[in-house]
Amino acid sequence: MKALKGNIIFTASSEKFEVYENSYLVESEGTIVGIFKELPSHLKGIEVDNFGDSLIIPGFVDMHLHAPQFQNMGLGLDEELLQWLEKYTFPEEAKYSNEQYAKRLYTNLAKELWRNGTTRVSLFSSIHRNGTEILMDVVSRAGIGAFVGKVNMDRNSPDFYVESTEESLASTEEWILATKDKYNLVKPIITPRFVPACSVKLMKGLAKLSEKYNLKMQSHLSENESEIQWVSELHPEFGSYTEVYDGMNLLTENTIMTHAVHNTPEEIELLAKRNVFIAHCPNANYNLSSGIMPARKFLDAGIRVGLGTDIGAGHQIGIYKVMSRAVQSSKMNWLNSGKVERCLTMSEAFYMGTKGGGEFFGKVGSFESGYSLDALVIDDENLGDRDFRSIEERLQRFIYCGDDRNITKRYVAGKLLSEPV
Ligand SMILES: [Zn+2]
Repeated sequence: MKALKGNIIFTASSEKFEVYENSYLVESEGTIVGIFKELPSHLKGIEVDNFGDSLIIPGFVDMHLHAPQFQNMGLGLDEELLQWLEKYTFPEEAKYSNEQYAKRLYTNLAKELWRNGTTRVSLFSSIHRNGTEILMDVVSRAGIGAFVGKVNMDRNSPDFYVESTEESLASTEEWILATKDKYNLVKPIITPRFVPACSVKLMKGLAKLSEKYNLKMQSHLSENESEIQWVSELHPEFGSYTEVYDGMNLLTENTIMTHAVHNTPEEIELLAKRNVFIAHCPNANYNLSSGIMPARKFLDAGIRVGLGTDIGAGHQIGIYKVMSRAVQSSKMNWLNSGKVERCLTMSEAFYMGTKGGGEFFGKVGSFESGYSLDALVIDDENLGDRDFRSIEERLQRFIYCGDDRNITKRYVAGKLLSEPV
């Protein structure tokens, strides 16, 4: 057992922050036991890591990141989605057939995740099985919890970066068998890239693999208007983009759909009915002029929404940066909706980037008893006067004005993480 001592703040619900000043967060075997102002007599004598006036917050959860796009982060962001994929993304992802390259770049990515306090992440790899296993090894060694997906693509893809349907399904199943029980905190996830790049046979085959091995799934939905138009041309037999995925059995309570910028009320109803998770990636939506995601509509429909950096369409790896962008984006949405759809509050944005996305990983993203002790220690001394600010104000200031230098410690499942090498 051990305790972390400091100013503890988290969101058990999206409505408000829970604050425990100068208190003890106690864990046993990686799981939170409780929060105490003073240690009760039976806990006296346990190891205490005292962080003084620092903040202690849950680790950040990134629901959507393309690991092989880390190297071209920030490039070509004056393009739109489909042009950007062709010019920048596919050529870069194709390089991950080279194992040396994969190892070097994925290690750099793990360092940046560590630096920015991402303790759980759902990753897209490339179409390469070996590169995907290298990514899983690297992330597991770093101590970060992750779902990692070998990407599947068998149509409308460049000649240098495509698989046949049979190849794609066979190598995916081999990869699942090789990795599903190999790691503690890292698991495979079924990852059809998106409808335009996956045939019906491939999508249905992947849904079957998910069922056979009880695996989670992730993909992209309704990011950009040209993409949505393309999907309707490819699948006139379905009423919407969302219905295509539903027809392939890919919408379940264990699925993350990323973006969901442009959806009809009927699609939102279907997503709610299937209890899908949505990864909201406002940085990417701005960068590729995809649009303003109406997060409030999804929350009002009772849909679970987490945050994603969407590296490399997103340009910032810290989820705290995505929290502030989600609030900014919701303010534009409020204006666009005729001031009807309320802006996100800070507690809602923080919840999305911790417990909201964390639910996909289990009991993650909160400091309630029974949750995994995934925590960050934030030293905000350089950010301004602390004496006259509440703990909540100090957290807001870190989210908007802080950076990775303010994060001084990272814990996953009770274990202190050191910098990946
Ligand atoms: Zn993406």
